[in-house]
Amino acid sequence: MNILRISACACALFLLSCSSAPSTAERTELALGTVCSVRVLDGASEKALDDAFARLAAIEAEMSANDPGTLVDQVNQAAGGQAVAVPDDLRYVTRKALEYAALSDGAFDPTIGPLVKLWGIGTEDERVPSADEVSAALAMVDRWLLELDDQAGTLRLAKPGMRLDLGAIAKGYAADEAGRILAEQGVTAAVIDLGGNVKVVGRKPDGSPWKIGVQNPFDDRGAYIGIVTVTGDRTVVTSGVYERYFLGDDGTHYHHILDTRTGYPVRNGLASVTIIASSSIDADGLSTTLFALGLDKGLALANSLDWMEAVFIDEDKRVYLSDGAQAIFELTDDSFVLAQADLREPSLSDTNTQGAPSEVQTPTSP
Ligand code: ADP
Ligand code: MG
Repeated sequence: MNILRISACACALFLLSCSSAPSTAERTELALGTVCSVRVLDGASEKALDDAFARLAAIEAEMSANDPGTLVDQVNQAAGGQAVAVPDDLRYVTRKALEYAALSDGAFDPTIGPLVKLWGIGTEDERVPSADEVSAALAMVDRWLLELDDQAGTLRLAKPGMRLDLGAIAKGYAADEAGRILAEQGVTAAVIDLGGNVKVVGRKPDGSPWKIGVQNPFDDRGAYIGIVTVTGDRTVVTSGVYERYFLGDDGTHYHHILDTRTGYPVRNGLASVTIIASSSIDADGLSTTLFALGLDKGLALANSLDWMEAVFIDEDKRVYLSDGAQAIFELTDDSFVLAQADLREPSLSDTNTQGAPSEVQTPTSP
C-alpha cells in the first residue's frame, strides 16, 4: 500500500516536472531561396513545425518570381493581357508592396522584376548588362501599371514585358505567417530565422528578454555588430549590399537592391539598414525602402514612424540610429562607431547615384 502510494506520488511529481519543463525543438530547411530555421523554446510539437514549414513552401510556390508556375510567374506571363485571379494573401503582400512604393515615391517598386531578371544577381546568370539593356528594362518598371483589383480578386500588369517581383517583402510575410501558425499551435516561445530575417514569438521561458544580433553587413558568416534587446513579439530584418552581390571583372561590387531611377544597384554610401518592428512584412518592406532612400531621407522616415526603429550602417562603418533605437540597441563591435546623421561630414560615397553604375569599395573585414 505504502509502496503504491509512494510510487503514485513519484509519478505525479514526474508528470508535474514534465509539464512544467519547456518543450523544445529545432528544424532547418531550404525555402524561399534561403536557409530557414525555426527554434521552439516552449510549446513545441511536430505538427507546429510541419505546419509552419508547409506554409513557407506554399508562400514560395505562390510568390517566387523565379520559378516557373508560381502565381507571380503566371501574372508575369500574362503581362499586357488578361488579369489573373490570385488569392487574398498574394493581393495582401502586393498591396503592402504598393504602400511602400507610395511611401518612397517609387524608390521601392514591386514592378522592379525586369531589372532583377536582367542583372540576375545571386543566380548563375548574373552579369553586368549593357546600358541599352538597362534602359530597356527600366522602361518596364512602373508601379502605376500594376493593377490590383480586390473586388475581382485579380492582379494585372498592363504592359507586356513587365514583371512583378516581391523578393523585397515576401520573406517578411512568410516570417509573420510562420509565427502565426506556431502561436496557433500552442508554441509560446520561438525564434524564426529566414535567412537573417529574424522574428521572435512570445516570451522566453526563463523570463529574460530576447537578444537579437544586428548583422555585420561586411561579414556574410552571421557575425553581428550589436544587439537589440526586446521583450515580446518582435522582428529584426536587414537589407544590405553584402547579402547578394557579385564582383565585376574590374572588382566593382554589384548588389541586389536596384535604383529605380538608374537601373543600377543603389549606391548611396549605405552598407545596410536594419529594421526593428513587430510585423515582419513591414520590417522587410521598410528595410529595402529605407536602403533605397538613403541615410537622410531614410532616417527622417524612420523617425516619423513610431512603430518601428532603424539602424543604418554606412560604408565607413558608421552606425546611425533612429530616435527610439538608442534605448534598445547596443553596439558591441568596436570597429564600428556610433554617429549622428546631422553632424556628419559629407563623404564621397554620399554623392549619389543618378546615372552612375554602382561601385562599392570592397569592405575591410571587421
Ligand atoms: P533580402 O534578399 O535579404 O530579402 P531585401 O529584402 O532587401 O533583401 O530584398 C532584395 C530584393 O528585393 C531583391 O533581390 C529584388 O528581388 C528586390 N528589389 C531590388 N530592388 C528593389 C527595389 N528598388 N524595390 C523593390 N524591390 C527591389
Ligand atoms: Mg526587404
